[in-house]
Amino acid sequence: MKNTYIQRVLHETRFRNADEPEFLQTVEEIVATLEPVMAAHPEYEKYCVLERLIEPDRVISFRVVWEDDEGNYHVNRGYRVQTSSAIGPYKGGLRFHPSVNLSMMKFLGFEQTFKNCLTGLPMGGGKGGSDFNPHGRSDNEIMRFCQAFMTELYRHIGPSCDVPAGDVGVGSQEIGYLFGQYKRIKNQYENGALTGKHMPYGGSPLRPEATGYGATYYLNEVLKHNNDTIEGKTFALSGYGNVTWGAVKKITELGGKVVAISGHDGYVYDENGINTDEKIDFLLDMRASRRNRVADYAERFGCQYFPGKKPWGIKVDVCMPCAIQNEVDVEDAERIVAAGTKYYIEVSNMPTTSDALAYLLGQPGIIVAPSKAVNAGGVAVSGLEMSQNSERLTWTDEEVDAKLHAIMKNIHDQSAAAAEKYGYGYNLVAGANIASFIKIADAMVAQGMV
Ligand code: GLU
Repeated sequence: MKNTYIQRVLHETRFRNADEPEFLQTVEEIVATLEPVMAAHPEYEKYCVLERLIEPDRVISFRVVWEDDEGNYHVNRGYRVQTSSAIGPYKGGLRFHPSVNLSMMKFLGFEQTFKNCLTGLPMGGGKGGSDFNPHGRSDNEIMRFCQAFMTELYRHIGPSCDVPAGDVGVGSQEIGYLFGQYKRIKNQYENGALTGKHMPYGGSPLRPEATGYGATYYLNEVLKHNNDTIEGKTFALSGYGNVTWGAVKKITELGGKVVAISGHDGYVYDENGINTDEKIDFLLDMRASRRNRVADYAERFGCQYFPGKKPWGIKVDVCMPCAIQNEVDVEDAERIVAAGTKYYIEVSNMPTTSDALAYLLGQPGIIVAPSKAVNAGGVAVSGLEMSQNSERLTWTDEEVDAKLHAIMKNIHDQSAAAAEKYGYGYNLVAGANIASFIKIADAMVAQGMV
């Protein structure tokens, strides 16, 4: 790294955030790709754009007290990190998972800021959640937790301030409980304060499918760029939740074959493909059961199950990690390359460790696409949900799908163009960072010292 401004900012960032490894990882990865941008835009240094973007606007942490079905009290920690409102209200999901901590919230909020910008919709970035573990909890326990969480969060959000949505452990059911409590406390029907809602009270068509569909549309653009198609390609995906489900659905519709999915317990290999409505819908049943076991799929459909293993290194054309951050390490990446996989399409937020990403980017035979671009379809449809809420109308499935498709194509094209312009060739990782950073940076410069 030669740029002295970037060097100085990274030095300060490491010092100030020494105990936040995931946040540092994402900052370092993004900033490293911005070197040619800084050289071309000296005003960004003058106005301290990088330092300002790295330091979140606001970090909120709060206690959440809730009662289980046996009458026992529990205490969890809740967060909302409001990273940037340079181009719109803070926007980003809520994650309920025992691993949630400040470093994770800050890294996700930072990524989200770039991702949201790529959609072309006016959304800033943020993230929130709790170290609450929904695994094995009853519906009533989930509801009480969501109510307790919103009792504190409500004062920090709103349709033109901050608009949370779902993420790992938070789906439309949790959003429903959160919205009910928000409405009760505020005595205002502001359905634009949350996205990912059920359809009857302001949800958008296609929001559940959006991330998986969007990822597949993005992949399609990558394939087109390489004179290739989805037809007949084989896929390994990790995860079995909402995102994986949407991707499997769209890949199957377009003629691809998904042969592996995974859970915390291991992965299943279905050589016939996860390609019938019954099989695809079973993913939803597994998520709804909160049993956290992908082995249930293997038992139900009689295919191979590999306990404790990840689905990387199977002979497939496309790998799509859809589960959690840092789920692909160097050894996994080496296995993926050795298996002759041609496309490595990140879907979950930051699924690749730094070393693994550097390794993959150095391999000429594999194309890498970054999660902040690939999974932006989810938040893009959240943005469309906000538009529908503010206009008090609902678009059709076809209208939302057409907009989502156009947004994903545009994300691919603008990333490819930015990478080319700044000397990276067809590097979609650098291109996504550059395209979004320039827009956010220009908005920050225009708005003065805030
Ligand atoms: N959690 C999703 C993401 O990582 C969706 C966020 C949203 O819809 O606001 O982008």
